[in-house]
Amino acid sequence: MAELTDAAKYRFDGENKLSIRAMDTDGNVDKADRIRIEADTKVMQQKIRALQDRLYADGREGVIVILQAMDAAGKDSTVKHVMSGVNPQGVEVHSFKTPSADELAHDYLWRVNKCIPARGMIAIFNRSYYEDVLVARLRELNKTYKMPERCISKSTEEFYKERYEDIRNYEKYLFHNGYRIVKIFLNVSKKEQKKRFLERIEESSKNWKFNPGDLDDRAAWDRYHEIYEDAVNATASAIAPWYVLPADKKWYTHYLVSEILLKTLETIDPKYPKLDENARIEMDKCRKILEREGKKDKNKDKDGYKDSLPEEEKSRLKAEKKAKKAAKEEAGEKAGEETEQEE
Ligand code: ATP
Ligand code: MG
Repeated sequence: MAELTDAAKYRFDGENKLSIRAMDTDGNVDKADRIRIEADTKVMQQKIRALQDRLYADGREGVIVILQAMDAAGKDSTVKHVMSGVNPQGVEVHSFKTPSADELAHDYLWRVNKCIPARGMIAIFNRSYYEDVLVARLRELNKTYKMPERCISKSTEEFYKERYEDIRNYEKYLFHNGYRIVKIFLNVSKKEQKKRFLERIEESSKNWKFNPGDLDDRAAWDRYHEIYEDAVNATASAIAPWYVLPADKKWYTHYLVSEILLKTLETIDPKYPKLDENARIEMDKCRKILEREGKKDKNKDKDGYKDSLPEEEKSRLKAEKKAKKAAKEEAGEKAGEETEQEE
C-alpha cells in the first residue's frame, strides 16, 4: 500500500485493534487550516482523476469503497465529494436500504453481488453487506429470518460470528478476482449528530432528510458503537482495511477520503494498455490514411484558389502553360533530329 500520511492513524488492517472510544471525531484540526486543507484536497482530486482514467483504460482492477456510518454522519456528502472528483463514466453508486421481500428471500450477499462493478470501475457502496452484521445484530434480525433451524438455532453471537467469517471470505474472494475494497466508517460524535438532526428539522430544504426512526438508532448509540467496534475488529484485514474517520468536520473527512482513494489507486498503479505488434501496424496504416487526407485537402485548396481568379488571369495562365508545353516539345524534337544526324 502506498504510504498514507494523515489517514494512517485511522487505518485498521487486522494488526491493530479498534477501540472506538479512543478515536477522535474531529481530526484535531484547526479551522485556520481549512483553506490549506481544501486546496490539498483539490490537488489530490486532480491526481485521482488522472489515475482513474488509467484504471478505466487498463480495466484489470476494480475498486469498491464501502461507506458505513450512523445517520447524518455525512455519507451522502462523501459520495458527492468522491463523484465530483472523477469521470462519472468510471464510477457507480449503490445504496443499500432495508431489504425487500425478494432480497430477504435470498442470501444476504445476493443483492450485493449484483452490484459488484466491472473491473476498471470504482463503485461506492452507500451502506453495504455490513448492515447485515450491524443493524441486523442490533435488532437481532437473525431471529426473524425465514431459514432452516440449522442456520438460526444458534446464539445471536454465534450467528454473527459466522457472518464475519463469510464476509472475510467474500472480501478475499473479491481480492482474488481483481478488486480492492476500502471500508470507511464515518465516525461522527453524538453532539454533532444532534446538531445535524436539528438542522434537518429546522431548515425546510433539509426536512426531507429527517426520519423520526433515526432517533431509535441514536437511542442505541453505545450498543451500536460496540457492534461497530466488534465488526471492524473481526473483518479488518490488509486486503480490505477499515478506516474509522473523524466525521464532525466534513471538509476534513473529504480530505482524508481523498487521501485514501488516491493511495489506493497509486497502489494499483494502473497502466494504459500497451499495443501489440499487429495493432501498431494497423494504427500506422490509419495514420497514413489520415495524413493523405490532409494532402488531398491541400491540393483542393490550390485548385480552389485558381477557380477564384478572374477570367483574363485564368486565360493568361492557360496560354502560359500551353506555350511552356510547346517549347518543351520543340526542344524534344530538336534533340531527336540531332541524334539521327549523328547516326
Ligand atoms: P441518511 O443517513 O441520510 O439517513 P440512510 O442511508 O440512513 O441515509 P435511509 O433510507 O434513511 O438511508 O435508511 C436506510 C435504512 O436501511 C437504514 O436504517 C439501514 O439500517 C437500513 N438497512 C440497510 N440494509 C439493511 C439490512 N440488510 N437489514 C436491515 N436494515 C437495513
Ligand atoms: Mg437514515
